[in-house]
Amino acid sequence: MSEGIAAIQSRMAVLQSQFTRLTPASSASGQQFAAQLTAERQKAAAAGTTSAPPSTPTAGTSGTATTSGTTPGATGTSAANGTSATTATEKAHDHSKVIGGGDRITPTMKKVIENVDAKFGPFPTIGAWRADGGMPGSDHPTGKAADFMISTGGKMPSGAKLKEGWEVANYVKEHADELGIKYIIFAQHIWSPSRASEGWRLMEDRGSVTQNHFDHVHISVER
Ligand SMILES: [Zn+2]
Repeated sequence: MSEGIAAIQSRMAVLQSQFTRLTPASSASGQQFAAQLTAERQKAAAAGTTSAPPSTPTAGTSGTATTSGTTPGATGTSAANGTSATTATEKAHDHSKVIGGGDRITPTMKKVIENVDAKFGPFPTIGAWRADGGMPGSDHPTGKAADFMISTGGKMPSGAKLKEGWEVANYVKEHADELGIKYIIFAQHIWSPSRASEGWRLMEDRGSVTQNHFDHVHISVER
């Protein structure tokens, strides 16, 4: 790849000494040397210009890595390898805040939350157990339901967010057996294993964005 500045400079020194031993004006080889020396100087100047900006951060990075390396903990690794750290951050994202989680939900519900959150989170919030499920027969008061919020404040999600909601809903639908799913509701559509052949069924209009499940994916589990 590119030559080091030191190598170019030492070759320049050699050329310089050869050049000074000749008579430039009367010698063809002297002119050749002069031209070569000029070329080398330009090359050195170019190398100096291009390598100077990267050399500063490189020195800083290696310095950071050395310092961090002596410090216990994983910080040094992150600092030394920005690419891996970024990738790790993207994958090992924060857990969503679960409202009404813990021992108020069933092990099956807990597993669904962990699975979906790891794959699609973080969500604005995940609302699981609550005393008032909002309607008779709700699975929220028994700890067998969770709402994965797609948007907040009762606002209709953007097209991109709706697409994300469908990705969650369809993922859970595809894995309904292993996740122990009873039914899924999203965007005014419901799907249940007991009526799987009917696909996503349109529900009645309940009036609001939240009541029609446009701002959250509702998931109920069997036990
Ligand atoms: Zn719900």
